[in-house]
Amino acid sequence: MALTRLLPRPNSRARTDRGPALARVIAFANQKGGVAKTTTTLNLGVALVEKGLRVLAIDLDPQGNLTMSQGWNPDEIDRSHELDVGVASIDLAGAELALSSMIGRERALEKALLPVREAYDYILIDTPPSLGLLTINAFVAANGVIVPVQCEYLSLRGLVQLENTLAMIRENLNPEVEIEGILATMFDKRLLHSREAVDILKENFGDLVLNTRIRKTVRFAEAPVKGQSVLKYDPTGEAASMYRDLAKEVLNGASARQHA
Ligand code: ADP
Ligand code: MG
Repeated sequence: MALTRLLPRPNSRARTDRGPALARVIAFANQKGGVAKTTTTLNLGVALVEKGLRVLAIDLDPQGNLTMSQGWNPDEIDRSHELDVGVASIDLAGAELALSSMIGRERALEKALLPVREAYDYILIDTPPSLGLLTINAFVAANGVIVPVQCEYLSLRGLVQLENTLAMIRENLNPEVEIEGILATMFDKRLLHSREAVDILKENFGDLVLNTRIRKTVRFAEAPVKGQSVLKYDPTGEAASMYRDLAKEVLNGASARQHA
């Protein structure tokens, strides 16, 4: 896969005791666009880095929005940044096609990540808005999936489709992978509609719905323009603190799993 050569050299910080022994790989997926997959991958990643963890974010979207949100030109990556990013370039646009005729095509990403799994505590994969082969590669490589869901336009049917895809992946390719959290995004507590969306999610998915809700704020549109996460752009703002809360919740989930 074109991604291999795009992976950054792992940074040399010493291993922390706090993360899992091999990087925990989390895919951020929802076949709907505009639900905050990319925003969540970046800002949760930076929040984990703030906590001293070593994080690699993988941009699997041919549109390269994650890459661009750090102010990079995908074709020239050599400057300081908030976290390591495995970058999508124009190559990835052809990757789906190139992969589609390859033996082991569903495992190309898993294979590409093997050599760097020891060098990171978390590998976060941002996926394109489809359940195509690139997203399937993410599901095969992942330990868990976080599904951002936009409260304004809740699509239960879409979530069922995503669950069905994961069930097939579990049966055939990766017995371990499952949804580890559903994240309500663009939540507006003033709107009945938003509160109802969370209730409906809880009725259908119970504990999978994360306690952290990402509220709607304009900061998320402003930060990428500066090539920054919201944690850097507005470190003391509520947008930053919501993603720090999410980082805590994700870390607690991981330690609960370790001690289970
Ligand atoms: P996806 O990757 O799922 O397509 P993005 O992360 O690109 O979604 O987000 C879509 C748009 O919504 C972007 O313009 C982003 O800045 C904006 N956005 C993301 N999260 C929020 C939020 N909590 N409040 C307001 N706008 C948001
Ligand atoms: Mg995106």
